[in-house]
Amino acid sequence: MKMPDLEASSSLDFIRVRVAEDVRANKNDGRVHTRFPPEPNGYLHIGHAKSICLNFGVAAENNGLCNLRFDDTNPSKETVEFEESIKTDVHWLGFDWDDRLYYASDYFRKLYEYAVQLVKDGKAYVDSLTADEIREHRGTLTEAGRESPYRNRPVGENLHLFERMRAGEFEDGTHVLRAKIDMASPNVNMRDPVLFRIMHVTHYRAGTQWVIYPMYDYAHPISDALEGITHSLCTLEFEDHRPLYDWFLDNLPVPYRPVQIEFARLNLSYTVLSKRKLLTLVHEGHVKGWDDPRMPTLSGLRRRGYTPEAIRNFCDAIGVAKRDAVVDVAQLEHAIRDDLNRRSSRVMAVLRPLRVVIENYPEGQTEELDAVNNPEDASAGTRKVPFSKVLYIERDDFRQDPPKQFFRLAPGREVRLRYAYFITCKEVVKDASGDIVELRCTYDPATRGGDSPDGRSPKATLHWVSAAHAVPAEVRLYDRLFNEERPADDAPINPSSLELLASCQVEPSLKNAKPGDRFQFERQGYFCVDLDSKPDALVFNRTVTLRDTWAKIEKKNLKRGGNSGTGH
Ligand code: ATP
Ligand code: MG
Repeated sequence: MKMPDLEASSSLDFIRVRVAEDVRANKNDGRVHTRFPPEPNGYLHIGHAKSICLNFGVAAENNGLCNLRFDDTNPSKETVEFEESIKTDVHWLGFDWDDRLYYASDYFRKLYEYAVQLVKDGKAYVDSLTADEIREHRGTLTEAGRESPYRNRPVGENLHLFERMRAGEFEDGTHVLRAKIDMASPNVNMRDPVLFRIMHVTHYRAGTQWVIYPMYDYAHPISDALEGITHSLCTLEFEDHRPLYDWFLDNLPVPYRPVQIEFARLNLSYTVLSKRKLLTLVHEGHVKGWDDPRMPTLSGLRRRGYTPEAIRNFCDAIGVAKRDAVVDVAQLEHAIRDDLNRRSSRVMAVLRPLRVVIENYPEGQTEELDAVNNPEDASAGTRKVPFSKVLYIERDDFRQDPPKQFFRLAPGREVRLRYAYFITCKEVVKDASGDIVELRCTYDPATRGGDSPDGRSPKATLHWVSAAHAVPAEVRLYDRLFNEERPADDAPINPSSLELLASCQVEPSLKNAKPGDRFQFERQGYFCVDLDSKPDALVFNRTVTLRDTWAKIEKKNLKRGGNSGTGH
């Protein structure tokens, strides 16, 4: 698999500077070896993409290697489905671990043996306090912890108990193995952390082989060391765990000596990036699944029409820093807009159709008019779009009583139909309840292709489809998942985050569009064909609008009382 193009990364961030220094100093014989260590307890999200791009990126830039390691130390929440989805998503993003697929669970025996070593060295003991008692003994940030009455158990007794823990003789929660470090340490992570706990739970890979499972803080440094990782990159919340990471490496005969470096996790406005919260959205049915196009998961973004290139460009643009910050989701939207602008074909699709009859156009006639596929890319060529007497235009493109800034169609007014003709609205037809059902218009045959020989130039150009030729479609419009910039834990999702339009009409060239195909619907935004789409029942997702309408709305709210911005 091709590694992503890294030309865009201009100046070096603090991690790349640090790695470059280590290479220059010939640390680890000049080797650079990183890893991406997901826990298979959920689907990957855009925050993970930042970590993937960083780990695989730093390795590739230094002719190094990056492992994929499943950190599967907590069997109660881990599944094969999650593991498979993670592999799919890492590949989709454009990265490959080659033959370096690892599992923390493959180290369970080694982790057990190292723990036995710590016990023999008097550096670990079996504690028989309850979980609550351990918590209570731990102290606080301002108060030292208290030693457990079991802390000074003789080595022989510890070895025997630990062996019996492993043999499955005890119930969950009755004993734990703890490192013997320092209950008075100002760093609570150093107050005799738990290494192994008893859990009679089947592991999705190891089965029932183990009933004691290692804690993350213990398993991680050792896994890194066993794999020869040189730089173990993790998020800032582990900064205070670093002394513990180093303690294990200092006190065990591990083959390599990795260093942990922390960076700021990605936070994105108007959404949540925590597997626990995303899992809740899925389980409580607030969204349709992990790949619901509103989700910030990679599978959701993919289904929504995001490209891996856009996500990598986004990760590159936000950079890597040491200070936590919230990135505006508009920046992610900018990245996909930028990418799709280059790659997608323009087509015409009417989302909320209004019937237009061209009174002076010959009955039964069809013309094939030339339309440009992509003004950003001449090689994309042109296509034919059929024009006939009955058309659909967008309901929003007509106003019976147009406000001052509204330049689109209105009674008596002339507009241009893209690639077609100028039309003038002559009559508005309403039903019994007063709703507009049809416009009667005339066209000017001299304006074929959208130009007038006398230099007339209407202020608006509208998209349209020919009613007899158009293909019906469903379109799903998505908006931000939450209305709050930083959603609280119990925040409800944005009720308008999904709007379903069931009676759209799209141009006939879309008839054979396949799931995943991407288009720009002229004047509306970028859309892709959804997985639910069938040849005779097309379904499109709106990936992103053409412009950042939220920024506009917010600006308008600031101005207060500004007009309703209706220019085309
Ligand atoms: P949770 O969402 O429950 O906190 P997690 O996101 O930490 O879990 P992991 O599977 O442990 O889940 O994450 C794998 C790697 O991705 C870790 O190295 C972690 O630091 C990194 N990572 C996770 N979230 C982010 C984020 N928002 N920004 C950057 N990196 C992240
Ligand atoms: Mg984690």
